[in-house]
Amino acid sequence: MSAHRPFSPQTNTMARPGVDVGPSHILGEWSPGIAGPLTIISAGMHGNEPAGVLALRRILSYLQDNQVQIAGRFVAMAGNLTALGVGLRYLDRDLNRQWDRASVERLGREGPRGYAEDIEQLELLQDFEQLTRHHLGMVNLLDLHTMSAKGVPFIVTCDTPDSTSLANQLLLPGIVGLEKAIPGTTLEHFLAQGYRAVAVEGGQHQDPRAVDLLEACAWMMLIATGIVTEDQVPDLQAKRQTLLDESHDQPQHVTVRYRHGVHPEDGFAMLPGYKNLQPVRRGEVLARDRSGDIVAPQDGWIVLPLYQKAGNDGFFIGV
Ligand SMILES: [Zn+2]
Repeated sequence: MSAHRPFSPQTNTMARPGVDVGPSHILGEWSPGIAGPLTIISAGMHGNEPAGVLALRRILSYLQDNQVQIAGRFVAMAGNLTALGVGLRYLDRDLNRQWDRASVERLGREGPRGYAEDIEQLELLQDFEQLTRHHLGMVNLLDLHTMSAKGVPFIVTCDTPDSTSLANQLLLPGIVGLEKAIPGTTLEHFLAQGYRAVAVEGGQHQDPRAVDLLEACAWMMLIATGIVTEDQVPDLQAKRQTLLDESHDQPQHVTVRYRHGVHPEDGFAMLPGYKNLQPVRRGEVLARDRSGDIVAPQDGWIVLPLYQKAGNDGFFIGV
């Protein structure tokens, strides 16, 4: 069913060991076969972020091993299969930057342009369409990610009561405005489709704790959306504490006010040591590029400082 083209090792020499997710974007699903909520949790839209896939596998195994009688339907999905297999953020194009309306419509009209990520996206669109076709109620989506920087994990949410209440139940700080500052993310598309959708940045890419964090967050999503009851979650208190410990003494709501975009030719490099949601002062030198020092334009919290080669968001400032 998959038409992924073979990976060319010249594409990027920064590959880390990947995770084999097989040929299907559907990692697994669990449903008692009776009507109820539909909650989809996706991971690996960026192929260098395997933690979410590992977290979803744990949850699927637990549900299956214990034959948990959930309500409705839970579906676990993997995003960029080819990139996950080789441990790269992407092969040709960032899969989490091409979900704006114009790109999705062009893909439907003209088909893939020969980029690996166009094929991935087309398959995902078809899978989502099939999964939701006969579902009458709200579709819930949580998209799992990890960061290149150290620092506090957080929920990416938009400024609607529904989205905010969902984010609050996931027990991590909520950041509003990233979905506007970063065009073309999955959130933009699925919110426009009427889904109740949030994303989570759950720790650093290769940190084993990121798997625990994302697993805990995904269980909270299953509780919040009515798929499982609290007593069906293994070690619920420990999972809650895992999340609460991460954001202790941190701002719980941050609104993004500034984005520093970068191009590969800029030679952008963050100064070492910045962590996600660290406070910064106006005028503080945060990074350098070919034009010189890059300073914080205002006081605030630094969000997603870029410490990897691939990516075009240098950092954000929130308040
Ligand atoms: Zn990501």
